[in-house]
Amino acid sequence: MTRSASFEGALSFAADLVRVPGLPGGEADVAARVKQEMEALGLADVRVDDVGNVIGVARGRGEAPPVMLSSHLDVVAEGDHSEWEVPPFSGAVEGGFLHGRGAMDIKGPLALQTYAAAALIDEAPGDVIVAHTVLEERGGLGMRHLLESGTVDPAAVILGEATHGDICIGHRGRAELEIVIQGVAGHASVPERASNALDLLGDVLAGVRDVAGARTSDPVLGPESLVATMVDVRPETRNVIPDLVVVAVDWRVLPGADGPALLARVRKAIGGRIGTASTGLTWDVRLASERQRTYTGLEEDVALHTPGFLMSAEHPVVRAAARSVGRRFEAAGSAVVRPWSFATDGGWSCGVHGIPTVGFAPGEERFAHTNRERLDVEEARWAFERYPELIVAVQRVLAG
Ligand SMILES: [Zn+2]
Repeated sequence: MTRSASFEGALSFAADLVRVPGLPGGEADVAARVKQEMEALGLADVRVDDVGNVIGVARGRGEAPPVMLSSHLDVVAEGDHSEWEVPPFSGAVEGGFLHGRGAMDIKGPLALQTYAAAALIDEAPGDVIVAHTVLEERGGLGMRHLLESGTVDPAAVILGEATHGDICIGHRGRAELEIVIQGVAGHASVPERASNALDLLGDVLAGVRDVAGARTSDPVLGPESLVATMVDVRPETRNVIPDLVVVAVDWRVLPGADGPALLARVRKAIGGRIGTASTGLTWDVRLASERQRTYTGLEEDVALHTPGFLMSAEHPVVRAAARSVGRRFEAAGSAVVRPWSFATDGGWSCGVHGIPTVGFAPGEERFAHTNRERLDVEEARWAFERYPELIVAVQRVLAG
């Protein structure tokens, strides 16, 4: 017998998941628990892929194009436990809220999506794929692999990132750049024998500000932002002239910006400030990268560049989604359509792969990644009840 796909069941599954910690790259236990639940709910083709994403399918009754529901398996670190009013991994439901790390970002919505799909087995006009990904909080290696693998081919994606009941249609992307200045080290007592990498720092920072000052803007997403956030100096010795300076730059980019174009803009601006560097000094701009390891053992150098995306508010999928969801406290009207302020896996699904992507979930952005993280149970119940109509409406539009 398969488990009944009720809201109460979804809430207790969400509370269970909060009790299973899992930082990016450490999602094994969460994945095992999600896989077990998908099987108990009667999803088909339940599997874990190479990088550790958990995937299942709620088979529909017809041939409408598949829609994919997606949340992520990882959470951010919980910090100091004594700073939490409710312990971060208790999964307590108190005062009308599910509390704890992941309650809203994103284990609550993950549970709601999984149960909503299960409730549509043999009912939806087409298959509903449920795919929960790894490493979203570190830039989305899981979603990138899932879509590149070709093992799923959704016609639209619905993300479970918090929207507070609105329909979210995009966000800025993020790029982390490093500007590397190379010189020749020497004793501080004889500077003429060295080339001080710090000598170019002023021009580099001015060049970064030049790019920031000329920033472009989008009517929906707002302006891009660009700011230097850190300077590393090597060697770290006060009586040695440094031969290496690395400036870190955080750049919130608009959709469509690719790595090479971003690097070229910064190189041009810095080049304009420096002119010809003095002998012994060189500089370059690169995308920062980090080594990431999945809990399944796959390792990869990942460029710290998460794409942005933006769906038109007039796109048929967006309009159908907003109409089907409505507004929580109003009898009529479409949901508010807006962007997120943070990045999601939609940068991969829509920004890179061009798959129509929207978000719908309970939860307020202001609680995400904080020690007051919580999910309003009544808001979650409302969202759970809206999900089947949302899925069916999107599939009908896709089927034409
Ligand atoms: Zn999230």
